[in-house]
Amino acid sequence: MIKAKLPEYDYDIIIIGGGPAGYTAGIYAARAGLKTLLVEGAATVSQITITDLIENYPGIPEGINGFDLMQLFKNQALKFGLETMAADVTSIKKHNSNTVIWEISLGNKILRALSVIAATGAEWRKLGVPGEEEFAGKGVSYCATCDGPFYREKDVIVVGGGDTALQEALFLTHFAKKVIVVHRRDRLRAADILQKRAAAQKKIEFIWKATLAEVVGGDLVTGVKLTDVESGKTSEIPAEGVFIFVGRIPQTKLFEGVVKLDAVGYIITDDNMQTSAAGIFAAGDCRAKQFRQVITAAGDGANAIYGAELYIAALKGESY
Ligand code: NAP
Repeated sequence: MIKAKLPEYDYDIIIIGGGPAGYTAGIYAARAGLKTLLVEGAATVSQITITDLIENYPGIPEGINGFDLMQLFKNQALKFGLETMAADVTSIKKHNSNTVIWEISLGNKILRALSVIAATGAEWRKLGVPGEEEFAGKGVSYCATCDGPFYREKDVIVVGGGDTALQEALFLTHFAKKVIVVHRRDRLRAADILQKRAAAQKKIEFIWKATLAEVVGGDLVTGVKLTDVESGKTSEIPAEGVFIFVGRIPQTKLFEGVVKLDAVGYIITDDNMQTSAAGIFAAGDCRAKQFRQVITAAGDGANAIYGAELYIAALKGESY
């Protein structure tokens, strides 16, 4: 077989992101004997690590805490020899227009790879209402697992009507006296099973067709102003905590101008996780797709590595 002569590079694959997609990619790449580095944000954490309970991940019928599940993924990847690094990637670009080498900048350090897996995930969306930023960490939170215990016997507001809002509202009932879910419609987006559990939980109340207009307080949050969607009238209700779960925004700034993104910024891929740029694959919540779950992120990670493996074999003249 004629082996192609490639320019110098550091890794076959660099995976960017340390969530379920990234670490599954890491397991598959390391096990396949590809020289692989996973870079995870120095200051950012995967959303899954702040998820209290995951009970739909196959094989774990009793459910598992998100942090613990992620630890299992990591240990499995490390067992196969995956290299990891805590650092923030600052740019991705081609070494020069005639090459197949991708340059990943980590501040002043540059690493070269044949293939890149984007597994950068998404972060919680903010509402941008008055008081939200001012009271962040002083009553406004995006993580019930982290902050729930501060609200023992207190009244809290949960904004949103999706799976996250209901799941976290249920978790908050372990601590809070009352959990008021504020949703902008009269119908929840959350899965039926969560809706039924929330309806049966006496500590949970719903305020329908209302939006959060303002978070109010002094040193700490004392309440919220809500706007009735139909009448437009605003009312104030007391609460000591405000948990906001209104969806996510993709963490894809790094890839702007490198690969094609959809209108809201998710990375567009084909069924094999191939993006518009040869050698770059995307997996998990940062990818344009219908269903964002740990299991779908993990599936994406495995598919992305298989795509990268075939791509690299072709580059090296080792296709079989
Ligand atoms: P989501 O499904 O996008 O739901 C966001 C919720 O916030 C919706 O109810 C939406 O209202 C509301 N919302 C959005 N913007 C708003 C605004 N500006 N003002 C007021 N309300 C606003 O997000 P998610 O709940 O974080 O879930 C994200 C993904 O993770 C989903 O695919 C979900 O299934 C998955 N997930 C699964 C589980 C599980 O399986 N156990 C747990 C958590 C998350 P509308 O309904 O009116 O649009």
